[in-house]
Amino acid sequence: MTDASPTSSSSQVLVVEDEPAIRDVVATALRYQGHIVHEVGDGTAALAAATESPFDLIVLDVMLPGLDGFEVCRRLRDRGRFCPVLFLTARDRTEHRIEGFVAGGDDYLTKPFSVDELVLRVAAILRRIGRSGTPELLTVDDLVLEIAGKRVRRGGDDIELSPTEFRLLHYLMVNVGIVLSKAQILVNVWDYDYDGSDNVVELYIGYLRRKIDRDRNGLIHTRRGHGYVLTQPDS
Ligand code: CA
Repeated sequence: MTDASPTSSSSQVLVVEDEPAIRDVVATALRYQGHIVHEVGDGTAALAAATESPFDLIVLDVMLPGLDGFEVCRRLRDRGRFCPVLFLTARDRTEHRIEGFVAGGDDYLTKPFSVDELVLRVAAILRRIGRSGTPELLTVDDLVLEIAGKRVRRGGDDIELSPTEFRLLHYLMVNVGIVLSKAQILVNVWDYDYDGSDNVVELYIGYLRRKIDRDRNGLIHTRRGHGYVLTQPDS
């Protein structure tokens, strides 16, 4: 049986960012952690969304068209919405304004930030408010991945993976049955500012296959011209 869905309750996260590439990376990284993510691209839409529905956390860019992130937060507080905010700031003069602004469950990250750091900050905030939302175990066929313990087993055998191989397998398992392009894999497994060739994806898929699929029914499949997919052996 395929079961790659979160085993504990997911958190609702609002991602507010006007740069589509960054918004996509942030939203994808948080979905990958099992959260339910709603995306908007400007301050007015953010205010409307966060007033209408309760979110466990808002990832809020400061420099936005229309209302800036500080103003969105201020108005939300005025409306009695006190959900924690993780501000995304540019390395400029907003930096010293933010120290005075961040309070309570709030935090901030300065751009450019790594996806790993974003995920850690989000997890820390959600832990503080008692909503971790992170699944412990992913299982596809006889392949088992322990997220916190960083362990992988297939048919009961322990499989040693490098950190990059582990992240790649995690990404494939979270997206079981979905064909993922090299570009998608690159942006989600490597940091978004990685500027190397996408041949690295092919290389690591090769490493992973040797460790996961050798002498067994293959789980990792190539869809020529489209990308890669992890599925049950007979599908
Ligand atoms: Ca911006």
